[in-house]
Amino acid sequence: MQAAAQAAAADGLDGLLVTPGPDLLWLTGYQPTAITERLTLLVLRDDADPQLVVPILELPDAESAAGAGAVTMRAWRDGTDPYAAAAPLLRAEGTYAISDSAWAMHLLGLQNQLPESRYMSVTQRLPMLRAVKDTKELARMEAAGAAADATFGEIVEVPFAGRKETDVAADLARLLREFGHEQVDFTVVGSGPNGANPHHEAGDRTILPGDMVVLDFGGLMYGYGSDTSRTVCVGEPTSQMREVHEIVRAAQQTAFEAVRPGIACQEIDRVARRVITEAGYGDQFIHRTGHGIGLTTHEPPYMVEGEERPVVPGMCFSIEPGIYLAGRFGVRIEDIVTVTEDRGRRLNNTDRGLTIVE
Ligand code: ZN
Ligand code: ZN
Ligand code: ZN
Repeated sequence: MQAAAQAAAADGLDGLLVTPGPDLLWLTGYQPTAITERLTLLVLRDDADPQLVVPILELPDAESAAGAGAVTMRAWRDGTDPYAAAAPLLRAEGTYAISDSAWAMHLLGLQNQLPESRYMSVTQRLPMLRAVKDTKELARMEAAGAAADATFGEIVEVPFAGRKETDVAADLARLLREFGHEQVDFTVVGSGPNGANPHHEAGDRTILPGDMVVLDFGGLMYGYGSDTSRTVCVGEPTSQMREVHEIVRAAQQTAFEAVRPGIACQEIDRVARRVITEAGYGDQFIHRTGHGIGLTTHEPPYMVEGEERPVVPGMCFSIEPGIYLAGRFGVRIEDIVTVTEDRGRRLNNTDRGLTIVE
């Protein structure tokens, strides 16, 4: 918490305001069972101890989760004004970074109390807050990645042809849980033309022999995320399917090999994009190359043009180039990669060649 407060001060902010969500969980260990209209607000300043404005009925849970003494509790009671309780913890003309997911009514309540105060999103000002993982976090990321890999190892053995996408998606969810995930966030099964839509989840299309099928799945294990994609072919692929798959594989590999401390996030995107563009499919690579992952499955840093910040050891993010041929098929290959002292290390290690399924 002190490091976060210092980072905020170094960025010219008077403090950091955190409402329930992944940042609060990461900073304090506290995650309210239900996020409600009642204000819960962690106030971090580098010139004061951490303070948590909390509904009095939530106080026992907050105290036991955050650990005695780590945070000064400022409990408020129903029937009193929580924003009046929070206001003395802030500077009247201060500038604060506030959680992206803070409810508008809470921000409006603070602004009403302190009309001269200013607020910016945490992602805008401190996007790398949770980006660097410590050893314990990395161990959980690795376990989640291994469970996703085990899921892929099993899914290629199930029948595809003649079943609906939703049936294969259900298999993916069941396997992720069997291999230890407590939460499944997404199970994309994009068969044939559906694979050309990167955010197609799974529908009632029946998978046919000859289909390419994009599989993209992940969730949380021990609280940390997995996210991996492979594209398989039901039976024999055409030569164009093989060609497109090979281009994506080469783009993913080249981007992975570019990872090292100090390289800008956008450079990883450029490296992957260059391979695909030179092969003639640049217009069909319609999304950024990757995203950070940790307590959530999509978060900063983003591997995208314009993100000039460097990657540093301990960061974890996806490398997931793709080619999407509208009306026909798509290919995406995705691994989570962490940054070591001198290079990248994959947390997903299943075969990146074109796997044939039945
Ligand atoms: Zn996505
Ligand atoms: Zn994914
Ligand atoms: Zn992803």
